[in-house]
Amino acid sequence: MLYDVLIIGAGPVGLTLAMRLGLNGHKVCVLEAQSDIETDLRASTFHPPTLDLYDEQGITAQLIDSGLVAPTWQVRMNHTNEFAEFDLSILKDHTNHPYRLQCEQWRLSGFLRDYIENKLPNVSLLWGHPCESFNQDASSVVVNSKSSTSDLTTFKAKFLIGCDGARSIVRKNLCLEFEGQTFPETTILATTHFPFQDYLDHLSYINYCWTSDGTFSLLRLKNLWRVSLYPSLDESIDSAVESQSVRRKINQISSSFGDSPILEIRPYKIHQRVVKQYVVGRVLLAGDAAHINSPSGGMGMNGGVHDAFNLADKLNRILKGEGIELLNKYERQRRPIAIKHVIEQSSKNRARMQEKDMSKRLLTLQELKRKSQDKSLALDYLLETSMISGLAESLNID
Ligand SMILES: Cc1cc2nc3c(=O)[nH]c(=O)nc-3n(C[C@H](O)[C@H](O)[C@H](O)COP(=O)(O)OP(=O)(O)OC[C@H]3O[C@@H](n4cnc5c(N)ncnc54)[C@H](O)[C@@H]3O)c2cc1C
Repeated sequence: MLYDVLIIGAGPVGLTLAMRLGLNGHKVCVLEAQSDIETDLRASTFHPPTLDLYDEQGITAQLIDSGLVAPTWQVRMNHTNEFAEFDLSILKDHTNHPYRLQCEQWRLSGFLRDYIENKLPNVSLLWGHPCESFNQDASSVVVNSKSSTSDLTTFKAKFLIGCDGARSIVRKNLCLEFEGQTFPETTILATTHFPFQDYLDHLSYINYCWTSDGTFSLLRLKNLWRVSLYPSLDESIDSAVESQSVRRKINQISSSFGDSPILEIRPYKIHQRVVKQYVVGRVLLAGDAAHINSPSGGMGMNGGVHDAFNLADKLNRILKGEGIELLNKYERQRRPIAIKHVIEQSSKNRARMQEKDMSKRLLTLQELKRKSQDKSLALDYLLETSMISGLAESLNID
């Protein structure tokens, strides 16, 4: 069978592309290496324009039902309780969802899968089917996949999209440079049911915090708090991921934490990279396969979803008769935005919280307070950090 589009990877980006292309009647097949949706805790913030994009298919309503609407976010000095708080309701003339939504990314993947399985018979989702390699010629792409239950199987399509994440096989097969850097620090993610909101005054659902000698973030989900911590100066990563060390650091955030259970501890490194090309003939890249950034500010998955909506529109038009050169517009519209908005903003967010000099931190906090209290400054800043400016700018690129 000749598919219109083969998608490698059933993460949020691959499934969004499958839904958008399937809605236009195209024959789509998604090959996913894992046997089911990955449920590890990764992205947990949905920005306003992402919620606007998913509205039409009712996915946004499902996300809101299972998430927490966060009308504000803060930068705080934890030991003095001083904070700058941004109120997203100021965005009400620019989005139908003037808030951030706190919800796990695997829930989005589940809603997209259910939508596809129930409403789009023209889309096949094949779990346990890793892509091993592919070849393309002027009219099609052939993918080789080997499932646990079958020998090497080939799949043929007019287009192939690599949505296979940061370690993308598709990107590696194209021999494209993934330019950028890996940051020196290791982040330690911990989750707990402990009700920080009962012990820290005026806490928002999203809090980026400084301590007297470090930094952490506190992000709330419906049933838990996600705490991002960093090893102390003299501490190895191995010691920093021990529960004793994590407990000690959380007790510095709130001494009432005591022996409360810690549900999960997971270290991860932060990278910022963008691939040289998004389009090579009939093979495209989207989401983490094309760009990765610091999670500070919650922009990675959102940016990938914006790629997916843009690319689905271009492929839909090409499959209906427009020229293949329209794909170059996808690259022109999305690659500079990943660099100028997603990478730059998330890197600024990271650098602000990693600052060690207390006088510089205090200056930053004063500046953020001033911004948050001035309507026009707050609006500009929130249009940028909520990814509204970047998305609008991308659509204006010819
Ligand atoms: C700890 C952490 C916190 C984060 N927090 C945020 C946040 O708050 N907000 C935000 O916007 N982003 C955040 N991100 C980033 C976000 O998780 C990613 O940007 C997002 O998962 C990208 O989606 P994707 O579909 O492109 O890739 P992925 O979600 O990585 O999905 C790729 C899929 O491809 C599959 N695959 C891989 N190789 C193959 C193969 N050879 N064949 C077939 N299938 C394959 C994988 O199994 C996977 O299912 C965070 C990331 C991490 C690690």
